[in-house]
Amino acid sequence: MLESRYLSVEFGGVAALADVTFTVAERSVLGLIGPNGAGKSTFIGAASGVVLPSGGTVTWRGATLAGKRPDQIARLGVGRTFQHARLFPGLTALENVMIGSHLAGRSGVFSAMLRIPRWRKDEEVLRAAAVEAMEAVHALHLAHRLSEDLTAGQQRLVAVARALAGGPSLLFLDEPAAGLTDAERELLAEDLKGYFATHDLTVLLVEHNLGFLMSLVSRIVVFDRGAVLAEGTPAGIRADPAVVDAYLGA
Ligand code: ADP
Ligand code: MG
Repeated sequence: MLESRYLSVEFGGVAALADVTFTVAERSVLGLIGPNGAGKSTFIGAASGVVLPSGGTVTWRGATLAGKRPDQIARLGVGRTFQHARLFPGLTALENVMIGSHLAGRSGVFSAMLRIPRWRKDEEVLRAAAVEAMEAVHALHLAHRLSEDLTAGQQRLVAVARALAGGPSLLFLDEPAAGLTDAERELLAEDLKGYFATHDLTVLLVEHNLGFLMSLVSRIVVFDRGAVLAEGTPAGIRADPAVVDAYLGA
């Protein structure tokens, strides 16, 4: 399982997370919600190595995540997307996805970018994984478009495909449906549901669109001001007065 124990993160002496403790069961999908600034992205950052913890631990199947480098964490089978999609400009969508699966430690260094013939076989493996991941989220038709020519929603789909292409066992999705049209969002929910059901995957999903979130998760953790406010089933969370007060109400 994924286990966060007393995780704390400070930015310039200000606490962004304080003693955050919760677990995500193996092969389950957990929703992480809460108001802007609650610390959701900071949690993913600490668990994926881009933010350093000031205290506590995050482990995946017993291995330490928080405090390690991003490449070390990726090699443990951890994939992620960013709240603000970061695709490499000047590369096609397919190339972006291929680089993502390379970074997850699957194959040869920079073969996707440099196209060195001796790496040809690695490149084929990367390409196959990238094509499969793009197909899984209905993004394959974008394969040969330059990333900067894609809409915000299309870039987000490519970023999700990039995270999937590495074949992660643990996946962090930070607002994957933000900027998607209603139709794109509904299709992505269906695609992810199918993907999760057919892969050995544990998922932590941050998403403000509750319809999207509730259709995918079995449990929810609510953050408020850097701490766990509530935890439970979707139905229990919807009915929790403290959650309604802090996040769902008004
Ligand atoms: P959420 O994803 O729940 O909206 P964040 O994790 O992005 O929240 O932010 C939690 C808090 O930490 C906010 O107060 C935010 O301003 C602060 N914060 C996040 N990242 C940084 C950073 N790199 N430097 C300083 N403060 C940050
Ligand atoms: Mg965020």
